[in-house]
Amino acid sequence: MAETRNTPKAPVLSDFSGQGALYDGLMRTLDDGTFVHAYLISGMEGIGKRTLSRLMAQHLLCQAQHKPCGTCPSCIQVQEGNHPDAVIVTPGKPLSPDVKSGLQGISVDEIRYVISLVGQHTFIGGRRVVIIERAEKMNQPAQNALLKTLEEPMPGTVFLLLTDSPELLLPTIVSRCRALKLHPWPDEVVLKALKNHGVEDDMARKALHVCGGSIGRAVAIAADERFWQRRQDVMQDFFTIGSRSDILRISSEWKDRKDESDALLDDLEDMVRTLLIVRLGRQEESMLSGYPEPWQHLARKGELKAFIQLSEAVSEARRLRGSQVTWQAVVEKLLLRFMEEKSKWST
Ligand SMILES: [Zn+2]
Repeated sequence: MAETRNTPKAPVLSDFSGQGALYDGLMRTLDDGTFVHAYLISGMEGIGKRTLSRLMAQHLLCQAQHKPCGTCPSCIQVQEGNHPDAVIVTPGKPLSPDVKSGLQGISVDEIRYVISLVGQHTFIGGRRVVIIERAEKMNQPAQNALLKTLEEPMPGTVFLLLTDSPELLLPTIVSRCRALKLHPWPDEVVLKALKNHGVEDDMARKALHVCGGSIGRAVAIAADERFWQRRQDVMQDFFTIGSRSDILRISSEWKDRKDESDALLDDLEDMVRTLLIVRLGRQEESMLSGYPEPWQHLARKGELKAFIQLSEAVSEARRLRGSQVTWQAVVEKLLLRFMEEKSKWST
């Protein structure tokens, strides 16, 4: 299977034209030079924030007439991640060995180091781009340090902050940046991207249904056998459970899979959402083919309240998981809730 994969073509800015007004506005300001000094690129994981930031950096640093050309030395250096005027801050990867890194986060020392770089002459062409990946990983002092620079922009420097959780950034940082919020991609765009990555039709359809409009996520799960195995386990354990006597057996199996607890809760949430969107008529009933009969009933006739309660049960499990309650007890409670709902719809 793997050998049939072709190499996907390199992304270009016009790939983002499907983002509509966001793309049109951005291109206008990049082309006429009225771009601002800081952007906040947000949107769910795998939606294309990183790709967009690299393409913007290419555009801003390109030395050719028609930007970004993709072939000049500057464009190539940005693509390869070694352009001297493109500074990329990534959590856990300090820019200099002298800087104290924040392990998983972005420390104030790293931001101060970036600010000191920004104050120096550029190497080529007078422009500089600073990309801060997972910007929400900046701790409070780091965010405060960055704020000062955003308030008094350096001519020629453009900051691109990337995040899937803008709510974790100081409101003052958010308000200093122009928002570029990437939206879920339409189905046909996701399918095309999967095809481009050599994913077979059947798998592409399956991945499409669970990716939430994120191309990166779709590509990743299409190649992830563990993902599909776990989904099957979750379907088997939570959606076919028939009696209380199964609860102990199933919960003790999941007790040993605590490292997958995030993924399990995500799966459950996603499966409930699938039932709901079919109920709302936004997806075809064919999406339910893997669900046992009682759940298909629910998706045809259930009241919205039932879906909300199931979602809340998953959210509560997420909260309880971090508390004194054992993971196994959290799973038991969830199993009970799903079993109760299923029994209402069994004939
Ligand atoms: Zn170029």
